[in-house]
Amino acid sequence: MVRTLELNKRQDQILQIVKENGPITGENIAERLNLTRATLRPDLAILTMAGFLDARPRVGYFYTGKTGTQLLTENLMKIYVRDYQAIPVVVRENLSVYDAVVTMFLEDVGTLFVVDEHSCLAGVLSRKDLLRASIGKQELSAIPVNIIMTRMPNITVCEKDDLLLDVAKNLIDKQIDSVPVVKKTDLGYEVTGRITKTNIAKAFVSLADDD
Ligand code: ADP
Repeated sequence: MVRTLELNKRQDQILQIVKENGPITGENIAERLNLTRATLRPDLAILTMAGFLDARPRVGYFYTGKTGTQLLTENLMKIYVRDYQAIPVVVRENLSVYDAVVTMFLEDVGTLFVVDEHSCLAGVLSRKDLLRASIGKQELSAIPVNIIMTRMPNITVCEKDDLLLDVAKNLIDKQIDSVPVVKKTDLGYEVTGRITKTNIAKAFVSLADDD
């Protein structure tokens, strides 16, 4: 669901006409602007989609009275984790720190999720976790990731039907870059997706798209 909140001059004029004269038909709005109904159609569609106007069959267009901020909030409340989640990269607990570094590069991700023998979430590995483990003279191929990972139950998770806004708040509060999307099972949390700051940036940009 993408909306534009920045209106062009003609859209502003239409809004003004409907505000003062609504309900008013598309034909009537066109007349007042000395334009054809066909020329106005895309602008009316945008204003209606964005929630500034509402259209009733055989009555016409009327002004909803909603401000840009109200509409932005309404639109934010329609963006769910399931719409923006990415594919998670998971590794096993006995993987070596060395192999985790290689996996992070090959898979081109900033966070790896660690799963146990039941494929349930056991830990999280960030870039800094791996860098920290690399300081010093330890043999990285001899250290399993479960020694250095952040482990359950201290992992912040989300579910596919959560609002992306709530996940964004969590990332800020907890000062982390990503959370696993999980599904609760009898054995623990199955990892089904991943939300990162990139996904949130994409959702943010989509709010300004107008197609
Ligand atoms: P980086 O450390 O590379 O900046 P993060 O900010 O995501 O990446 O990680 C900071 C710390 O928080 C790391 O120790 C990491 O293991 C931990 N961490 C990352 N994601 C989560 C999460 N979803 N829940 C709990 N801890 C996490």
